[in-house]
Amino acid sequence: MAYLRVAVDVPLPTLFDYRWDGRADAALGRLALVPFGRRQTIGVVLEVASKPAVAPERVKPALRLIEDIPPLSAEILDLLRFCSDYYHHPIGEVVHNALPQGLRAIRSSVRKQAAAFALAEAGEAALADGALRRAPALAALLERIANCQSVYLANLAAAERRHLKVLRDRGYVREWICPEAAREAPQSAVAPPPVLTQEQSAVLRAIAQSASGFRPWLLQGVTGSGKTEVYLRLVDSVLRGRGQVLLLVPEISLTPQLEERVRNRFPGHGIVMLHSGLSNEIRTRNWLAAQSGEAAIVLGTRSAVFVPMPQLQLIVVDEEHDASYKQLDAVRYCARDLAIWRARQRAIPVVLGSATPSLESFYAAQRGRYAVLRLTQRVTSHVHPRITLVPTTGERLIEGFAAALTRAIAERLRNDQQVLVFINRRGYSPVLYCSACTWTAGCPRCSARLVLHTTRPRLVCHHCGHAEAVAITCPQCGGLDLQPIGHGTQRIESALHRVFPQARLLRIDRDTTQGARHWPQMRRAIEDRQVDLLIGTQLLAKGHDFPALSLVCVLNADQSLYSTDFRASEQLFAQLMQVAGRAGRGEVPGDVLIQTAFPAHPLYQAVYAQSYEAFAQTLLSERRAAGFPPFVHQAMLRAESGKMAQTIAFLESAVRLGEGISEGVTIFDPAPAVMARLNGRERAQLLVQSSSRTRLHRFLDQWLTALRANAATSARWVIDVDPLEV
Ligand SMILES: [Zn+2]
Ligand SMILES: [Zn+2]
Repeated sequence: MAYLRVAVDVPLPTLFDYRWDGRADAALGRLALVPFGRRQTIGVVLEVASKPAVAPERVKPALRLIEDIPPLSAEILDLLRFCSDYYHHPIGEVVHNALPQGLRAIRSSVRKQAAAFALAEAGEAALADGALRRAPALAALLERIANCQSVYLANLAAAERRHLKVLRDRGYVREWICPEAAREAPQSAVAPPPVLTQEQSAVLRAIAQSASGFRPWLLQGVTGSGKTEVYLRLVDSVLRGRGQVLLLVPEISLTPQLEERVRNRFPGHGIVMLHSGLSNEIRTRNWLAAQSGEAAIVLGTRSAVFVPMPQLQLIVVDEEHDASYKQLDAVRYCARDLAIWRARQRAIPVVLGSATPSLESFYAAQRGRYAVLRLTQRVTSHVHPRITLVPTTGERLIEGFAAALTRAIAERLRNDQQVLVFINRRGYSPVLYCSACTWTAGCPRCSARLVLHTTRPRLVCHHCGHAEAVAITCPQCGGLDLQPIGHGTQRIESALHRVFPQARLLRIDRDTTQGARHWPQMRRAIEDRQVDLLIGTQLLAKGHDFPALSLVCVLNADQSLYSTDFRASEQLFAQLMQVAGRAGRGEVPGDVLIQTAFPAHPLYQAVYAQSYEAFAQTLLSERRAAGFPPFVHQAMLRAESGKMAQTIAFLESAVRLGEGISEGVTIFDPAPAVMARLNGRERAQLLVQSSSRTRLHRFLDQWLTALRANAATSARWVIDVDPLEV
């Protein structure tokens, strides 16, 4: 008899033991149905032991192993264990966070009839020795399957389906676990890839000539320099060796464009998406296709870093600096960092791409831990966009615009060019203000102001989702003069509509795209020139390539200039470079106008000079002097309860628990969070840091154990290792 040690989805840092009378060697990594309390649940077998960790009479039997899903490999189990250890998060929640929900459902129908077929070995032999000479129709279909590497049932005529059945009965073709999204894949000849620039060739040569094994590459390429083409060439060489590639992107909105390029380049190869915009069923099938090796390419967001890929030969992390790689709730992992760990463990290369690498990666490159590759020239226009800082001091802004911006927009529209107005704030106006008594509309559940929305008029909290009717009179003084203060996308849209009534406007923010659903149509409309003026938030700043877009206007960037977050300038710089990169990707040179009250600020000066390196160097020296990451390692204990006093009291008790064991670790004082009240909960935090990562983690091990034992608190808490938000 053996004991299965199972990860169950509960917030306890332990595995649970179950008796098992079946074969123990086949159980490791499998999903198992187990009793838990009064219910049954699906867990994952992480260990198999000969003795239980608790008294044998208390151990219940496991009900069954889920046999129709292959076990997780030792490599994935290691990754999950590392994630749990490093982020000090309960193993059960880590494991369940990593698996698609459809897999964990007790009644799962994910393995439906496959709808695609690929050449089997017997078929390859049959083609080689001419076994189908007398059946030309069968031979033709088999030939076609061999050439495209797979054929989709949906694309076959009725007669061909009958032929396919014959081929299948003879074992010439095999089922191919076809992800839903792949059915439309083109099965025609591929367009030749573009000619590489000298820089791209040099980059590819450097990677090709390096020794095999683990190697992190930092691909620092200005926007428009053709990083994606470099990725595609690397993917191509991996596919030739029958390997698998994991391509990580920060946002779902970026997947359609990349997906299209990847599919067109590699038709017939299994390409699957993994992101939260897919239905549970498709996500699960895609995951299974990756696990079985049928999907050669996985294109996904953050959580795809956990997908099993038995032939994984390369990981690409695009826009590696992007904060979306860090999960901000539940398991607070960073997918970029886990990707690097995974590449090391598998001894394969990992490519981190960005125009503005994170300071962590920049510093790692400086210390020689990452090899740096540079792309400094744009592929298409050969000119960088021209950046102009438009000072607003002494200027009378009309509807938020300085005259220079309105003039520039008018000129581009006259010349039939597209214009992007970038403002990183959705809604109409961020503040509703009473001019008589200075009252502002606030969220009853958060320490945040309510944002005025006008498409469906209401006041909305962007933090907790609270919505209410727009006040007509001031609830404090009864006054009637309520004013919207400040600008959001909706207000800019209506202002532009008034100034340029002929122009076709399109607003792109979270309110208009609703996740990823309408975004593909909007992108098509922009590409087809059905739009003249785009108003967008950061959703639009990243990675998109619109050839007719030649002017970018940036409004309200100043608001993040004096943030309390020490990472704010790094992020603002990255965002401005990124949005500036949208201008002039076609034939016409691009212009970028940034409206600011502080044109002399070093950050704007660096943006003006488009000098990432100099700015990164300055930030790095500031961080070194101030003792901030990457020169120290941090963890944040975040707590919340119904009352701030209670939250702070909990954190103070945590400080006392840490005092005896904190050698080499600094424990700061508890402080209210920037959003001190969120969704009715009062939040505070406690920072701990050390110059030694090992010391910090040793401390966290002991400290968190003590905190868990100290159950007499009504505050909820979570530990955030390598926090991004302060
Ligand atoms: Zn008032
Ligand atoms: Zn709220």
